[in-house]
Amino acid sequence: MSAKIIDGKEISAKVRGEVKEAVAEMKAKHGYTPGLATVLVGDNTASATYVRAKHKACEEVGVRSIGRVLGEDISQEELQQVVQELNDDPEVDGILVQLPLPKHIDEEAILGTIDLGKDVDGFHPLNIGRLSMKGRKPLFIPCTPYGCMRLLDEAGVDLNGAEAVVVGRSNIVGLPMAFLLNNANATVTIVHSRTKDMDAHLKRADVIIAAVGISEMIKGNQIKPGAVIIDVGINRKDDETRKRGYRLVGDVDYDDCLPVAGAITPVPGGVGPMTIAMLMKNTLHAAERKF
Ligand code: NAD
Repeated sequence: MSAKIIDGKEISAKVRGEVKEAVAEMKAKHGYTPGLATVLVGDNTASATYVRAKHKACEEVGVRSIGRVLGEDISQEELQQVVQELNDDPEVDGILVQLPLPKHIDEEAILGTIDLGKDVDGFHPLNIGRLSMKGRKPLFIPCTPYGCMRLLDEAGVDLNGAEAVVVGRSNIVGLPMAFLLNNANATVTIVHSRTKDMDAHLKRADVIIAAVGISEMIKGNQIKPGAVIIDVGINRKDDETRKRGYRLVGDVDYDDCLPVAGAITPVPGGVGPMTIAMLMKNTLHAAERKF
């Protein structure tokens, strides 16, 4: 039997459609259009591509976007000042500082400067703190884990009491993902680079979230038959048949897991498109709090 494919392209389009509709409604009802400000520092090509994609998504759903592009040599104080100006701008609902920042910048201090109510990336320590505590609601959920939860929901996965294993414990994916699964009443295990027997954990997982950054690390013989697999990884794999010399693969060996899993996300076309869709949703949430 072959796994059900969880189509992130289709589900992200649905999310963007919901946001578009709500933005149009806000405009009609309140004469207000939500605004997202992006801050891009330096000339990292990948970061510039991500920021462009975010502006394109804004355009598609009817959100205003404001782009601040700053030189690599900007000082901590100057960057902090830019974030402060955006905090003070009443027409900016969400602020997204594209990571990574240059090495001389204190990233934690910059993220901590963002107004809690405009933290659409959900990385403010207070938002993460609230996410981790019982009965406390964060203002925003980090976009990639938020997207994974929506994929699970759309696939009809019952998390209540399920054994969920999160592979990876990064601040942006693994850790917030584990909090979200815990909040949804799954029994959560986090495995990471120091875990002694990863296979034992994977084998009993009903749901696996892979966020490691190692090409096709998880194989079919490591998972339980019928398990639901959400693959967050985006890795380059050499492929001479492609014009650019590589193709993108996940942290999960898709072809190997397909006959074993119950449901699985492809790479590309799984989690990837969800991240920006959830950013649009968070920007809408930020503006909704005005009314
Ligand atoms: P990271 O490097 O910050 O964290 C990787 C985690 O994997 C660490 O916690 C580490 O302990 C764990 N790890 C490393 N080797 C391991 C091993 N052998 N076994 C088990 N765990 C191991 O990475 P990240 O930012 O969380 O990103 C992970 C992957 O997800 C990357 O491929 C990244 O490109 C991708 N990503 C995708 C999206 C998206 O929108 N789809 C967003 C963010 C990250």
